[in-house]
Amino acid sequence: MSGGTWDLFRYPGVRSDSDMYTLGYRFRPWRDPKAIADGPSILNYIRDTAIEYGVDKSIRFQHRVQSASWSSSEARWMVEVETGGNGEKGTGRKGDAGTERHADAGTGDTGMRG
Ligand SMILES: Cc1cc2nc3c(=O)[nH]c(=O)nc-3n(C[C@H](O)[C@H](O)[C@H](O)COP(=O)(O)OP(=O)(O)OC[C@H]3O[C@@H](n4cnc5c(N)ncnc54)[C@H](O)[C@@H]3O)c2cc1C
Repeated sequence: MSGGTWDLFRYPGVRSDSDMYTLGYRFRPWRDPKAIADGPSILNYIRDTAIEYGVDKSIRFQHRVQSASWSSSEARWMVEVETGGNGEKGTGRKGDAGTERHADAGTGDTGMRG
Protein backbone atom coordinates (compact mmCIF):
# COMPACT_ATOMS: atom_id res chain seq x y z
CA MET A 1 0.00 0.00 0.00
CA SER A 2 1.47 3.36 -0.90
CA GLY A 3 0.98 6.58 1.02
CA GLY A 4 3.36 6.24 3.98
CA THR A 5 2.42 8.70 6.72
CA TRP A 6 -0.90 9.44 5.05
CA ASP A 7 -1.85 5.78 4.89
CA LEU A 8 -0.71 5.07 8.43
CA PHE A 9 -2.44 7.97 10.18
CA ARG A 10 -6.20 7.64 9.72
CA TYR A 11 -7.65 9.04 12.91
CA PRO A 12 -10.60 11.43 12.51
CA GLY A 13 -9.51 14.95 11.71
CA VAL A 14 -5.99 14.08 10.59
CA ARG A 15 -4.78 16.82 8.26
CA SER A 16 -1.79 18.77 7.09
CA ASP A 17 -0.54 21.51 9.38
CA SER A 18 1.06 23.59 6.66
CA ASP A 19 -0.38 24.63 3.33
CA MET A 20 -0.55 22.03 0.60
CA TYR A 21 0.86 24.42 -1.97
CA THR A 22 4.12 24.10 -0.04
CA LEU A 23 3.78 20.42 0.94
CA GLY A 24 2.77 19.35 -2.60
CA TYR A 25 5.14 18.19 -5.32
CA ARG A 26 6.66 20.94 -7.40
CA PHE A 27 6.30 18.81 -10.54
CA ARG A 28 2.60 18.17 -9.81
CA PRO A 29 1.32 21.09 -7.74
CA TRP A 30 -1.61 20.81 -5.36
CA ARG A 31 -4.66 22.22 -7.19
CA ASP A 32 -7.37 21.89 -4.56
CA PRO A 33 -8.65 25.24 -3.30
CA LYS A 34 -8.28 23.98 0.29
CA ALA A 35 -4.78 24.86 1.40
CA ILE A 36 -5.00 22.82 4.62
CA ALA A 37 -6.12 19.37 3.50
CA ASP A 38 -7.51 16.31 5.26
CA GLY A 39 -5.54 13.04 5.34
CA PRO A 40 -7.64 11.11 2.79
CA SER A 41 -7.27 13.94 0.23
CA ILE A 42 -3.51 13.94 0.68
CA LEU A 43 -3.42 10.14 0.38
CA ASN A 44 -5.37 10.32 -2.89
CA TYR A 45 -3.04 13.00 -4.17
CA ILE A 46 0.03 10.85 -3.39
CA ARG A 47 -1.49 7.73 -4.95
CA ASP A 48 -2.68 9.57 -8.08
CA THR A 49 0.77 11.09 -8.49
CA ALA A 50 2.45 7.69 -8.12
CA ILE A 51 0.14 6.20 -10.76
CA GLU A 52 0.46 9.15 -13.15
CA TYR A 53 4.26 8.98 -13.04
CA GLY A 54 4.46 5.16 -12.98
CA VAL A 55 6.19 5.15 -9.62
CA ASP A 56 3.78 2.53 -8.30
CA LYS A 57 5.23 0.01 -10.77
CA SER A 58 8.70 0.47 -9.28
CA ILE A 59 7.61 -0.18 -5.71
CA ARG A 60 7.92 -3.66 -4.24
CA PHE A 61 5.02 -3.95 -1.88
CA GLN A 62 5.06 -6.35 1.07
CA HIS A 63 8.85 -6.10 1.30
CA ARG A 64 10.34 -5.10 4.62
CA VAL A 65 13.94 -3.89 4.53
CA GLN A 66 16.04 -5.70 7.10
CA SER A 67 19.44 -4.26 6.27
CA ALA A 68 21.22 -2.32 3.57
CA SER A 69 24.92 -2.14 2.86
CA TRP A 70 26.83 -0.29 0.19
CA SER A 71 29.21 -2.20 -2.04
CA SER A 72 31.90 0.17 -3.32
CA SER A 73 33.30 -2.45 -5.70
CA GLU A 74 29.90 -2.99 -7.34
CA ALA A 75 28.72 0.59 -6.80
CA ARG A 76 25.35 -0.61 -5.60
CA TRP A 77 23.38 -1.28 -2.48
CA MET A 78 22.85 -4.76 -1.13
CA VAL A 79 19.44 -4.78 0.47
CA GLU A 80 18.08 -7.64 2.51
CA VAL A 81 14.33 -7.80 2.60
CA GLU A 82 11.71 -9.92 4.24
CA THR A 83 8.75 -10.67 2.08
CA GLY A 84 5.35 -11.39 3.47
CA GLY A 85 2.23 -13.23 2.66
CA ASN A 86 2.98 -14.57 -0.80
CA GLY A 87 5.47 -17.35 -0.06
CA GLU A 88 8.22 -15.65 -2.04
CA LYS A 89 11.63 -17.14 -1.31
CA GLY A 90 14.88 -15.29 -1.33
CA THR A 91 17.43 -16.27 -3.91
CA GLY A 92 19.14 -13.01 -4.77
CA ARG A 93 18.07 -11.02 -7.74
CA LYS A 94 19.50 -8.07 -9.61
CA GLY A 95 17.39 -5.05 -10.28
CA ASP A 96 18.01 -1.61 -11.69
CA ALA A 97 18.13 -0.04 -8.30
CA GLY A 98 20.59 -2.50 -6.86
CA THR A 99 20.98 -6.09 -5.81
CA GLU A 100 18.21 -7.48 -3.72
CA ARG A 101 18.60 -10.52 -1.54
CA HIS A 102 15.38 -11.87 -0.14
CA ALA A 103 15.45 -13.35 3.30
CA ASP A 104 12.68 -15.88 3.47
CA ALA A 105 10.64 -14.89 6.44
CA GLY A 106 7.84 -17.38 6.19
CA THR A 107 5.97 -15.31 8.71
CA GLY A 108 3.01 -14.31 6.61
CA ASP A 109 1.99 -10.68 6.64
CA THR A 110 4.81 -8.47 7.86
CA GLY A 111 2.38 -5.69 8.61
CA MET A 112 4.48 -3.33 6.54
CA ARG A 113 2.77 -0.95 4.27
CA GLY A 114 5.23 0.54 1.95
C1 LIG B 1 -0.59 14.61 11.10
C2 LIG B 1 0.59 14.99 10.23
C3 LIG B 1 0.59 16.22 9.59
C4 LIG B 1 1.65 16.59 8.79
N1 LIG B 1 1.59 17.77 8.12
C5 LIG B 1 2.62 18.16 7.34
C6 LIG B 1 2.57 19.40 6.64
O1 LIG B 1 1.59 20.13 6.72
N2 LIG B 1 3.64 19.75 5.87
C7 LIG B 1 4.74 18.95 5.76
O2 LIG B 1 5.68 19.30 5.04
N3 LIG B 1 4.80 17.75 6.40
C8 LIG B 1 3.78 17.36 7.18
N4 LIG B 1 3.85 16.15 7.85
C9 LIG B 1 5.05 15.36 7.70
C10 LIG B 1 5.04 14.62 6.38
O3 LIG B 1 3.81 13.94 6.23
C11 LIG B 1 6.15 13.63 6.41
O4 LIG B 1 7.36 14.32 6.62
C12 LIG B 1 6.25 12.89 5.09
O5 LIG B 1 5.04 12.23 4.81
C13 LIG B 1 7.38 11.89 5.17
O6 LIG B 1 7.41 11.21 3.93
P1 LIG B 1 8.39 10.02 3.70
O7 LIG B 1 8.05 9.45 2.36
O8 LIG B 1 9.80 10.46 3.96
O9 LIG B 1 8.09 8.97 4.89
P2 LIG B 1 6.77 8.17 5.20
O10 LIG B 1 5.55 8.85 4.67
O11 LIG B 1 6.84 7.89 6.69
O12 LIG B 1 6.94 6.84 4.38
C14 LIG B 1 7.90 5.87 4.76
C15 LIG B 1 7.45 4.55 4.17
O13 LIG B 1 8.46 3.60 4.40
C16 LIG B 1 7.87 2.41 4.87
N5 LIG B 1 8.89 1.71 5.67
C17 LIG B 1 9.35 2.03 6.91
N6 LIG B 1 10.27 1.13 7.29
C18 LIG B 1 10.40 0.24 6.27
C19 LIG B 1 11.20 -0.95 6.07
N7 LIG B 1 12.08 -1.39 6.99
N8 LIG B 1 11.07 -1.61 4.91
C20 LIG B 1 10.19 -1.18 3.96
N9 LIG B 1 9.42 -0.08 4.09
C21 LIG B 1 9.53 0.61 5.23
C22 LIG B 1 6.67 2.84 5.69
O14 LIG B 1 5.72 1.79 5.76
C23 LIG B 1 6.17 4.00 4.82
O15 LIG B 1 5.29 3.56 3.81
C24 LIG B 1 2.77 15.73 8.64
C25 LIG B 1 2.77 14.48 9.29
C26 LIG B 1 1.69 14.10 10.06
C27 LIG B 1 1.69 12.75 10.74
